[in-house]
Amino acid sequence: MQGLSVLGATGSIGMSTLDIVRRHPQKFRVISLSANQRVEQMHALCLEFKPQTVVMVDASAAEQLKLMLMQSGDHQIQVQQGEQSLLDLVKAPDVDIVMAAIVGASGLLPTLEAVKADKKVLLANKEALVTSGQIFIDALHASKATLLPIDSEHNAIFQCLPKGMQDSVGHGAITDYGISKILLTGSGGPFRTLPLEQFDTITPEQACAHPNWDMGQKISVDSATMMNKGLEFIEAKWLFNLSADDIQVVLHPQSTIHSMVQYKDGSVLAQMGNPDMRTPIAHAMAYPERIDAGVQAFDFFNCQSFQFAQADFERYPNLKLAIDACRAGQGACTALNAANEIAVAAFLAKQIKFTDIAKINAEVMQSFLTTDVRSIEDVLRLDQEARKQASSQVDWLKENS
Ligand code: NDP
Ligand code: MG
Repeated sequence: MQGLSVLGATGSIGMSTLDIVRRHPQKFRVISLSANQRVEQMHALCLEFKPQTVVMVDASAAEQLKLMLMQSGDHQIQVQQGEQSLLDLVKAPDVDIVMAAIVGASGLLPTLEAVKADKKVLLANKEALVTSGQIFIDALHASKATLLPIDSEHNAIFQCLPKGMQDSVGHGAITDYGISKILLTGSGGPFRTLPLEQFDTITPEQACAHPNWDMGQKISVDSATMMNKGLEFIEAKWLFNLSADDIQVVLHPQSTIHSMVQYKDGSVLAQMGNPDMRTPIAHAMAYPERIDAGVQAFDFFNCQSFQFAQADFERYPNLKLAIDACRAGQGACTALNAANEIAVAAFLAKQIKFTDIAKINAEVMQSFLTTDVRSIEDVLRLDQEARKQASSQVDWLKENS
């Protein structure tokens, strides 16, 4: 029986994680859950999974949850509030596995804390790694933690890697294993064929309607701009110790192949299946065992034919920005990630246009292209500065459009 802490329990990844627990109550026990403010969902999870501790980062949400738990007669569950409480949550001795599924750079400190506490860390929160890069990997190296990728592409790559590389996440050398390229697949999102003249009028509802995956709002918009693939490009660099030249983005609209590893001898290993995050989640939770995830096997006789294409940077300028950031260094990556979080939130709030996201990202990234980042304090400072710049650009666009 393994003790589990789920950060971001009320989100898309959090709920899929808890569905795996529901299917394997003899293997996993929920020790703690966290969310920001969605109280009703958290209350329902408390009643079902009976965690010892719950953190609602939002203070009024925590108060409301306490009241709801009292009313439903549950006096055992400890409810805490604030970001600091997340750090204690992941360190608790009963916790063996931490699912890092907070969205955005807010997940950085608790995820890093879980690494430092030698936990088995399941990384969905790609922004945590993108924003801190080498600092995160150094902390992993210095700990006894295990880091397993949840992002479907990185989980697919992990599954296609030899055992030696699987055992050395963050520092294995692909050349030692005859690997010539990492092929990072992406569907191209909902606007793969939309005429470019119409991009200015794209609404948040259209951007969030992903053709293949059901996800939280932020990552859905990132998938539509392909910033998500860009963040994944940087995530892959750190997880598998790659240079930008080792990674090739391949558009694959059907999302059946979740990524591939190409070897020197001409072999290409691919991981395939229906697009359902419970597959990578179950894989990582039980690794190296395989367990039922509730996902149907892929039907080869009733499927669309597979297509592959190159990504067009005119259609997806955010992908180009992220690849440029990956080559430029940590300052550019941290700034780009922060700007993007602000720009996407403003787009979702209907304050700016879809096409403004890339404009804001480019401007802000440019300001921090050569900024040196050596510590977590540097990351946090740069993250705040970049957010401030992005917010003033949002204000300017609101006033001038
Ligand atoms: P959701 O928006 O569905 O869920 C986000 C979760 O994080 C919620 O539980 C939310 O709480 C919590 N949260 C939000 N802000 C904060 C904060 N400031 N502090 C603490 N907790 C917070 O996102 P997803 O589940 O879609 O994505 C989570 C992460 O996983 C992202 O980094 C994403 O890129 C990654 N990922 C997601 C995939 C997917 O299929 N969804 C696939 C691959 C990666 P509340 O509900 O209270 O707001
Ligand atoms: Mg992904």
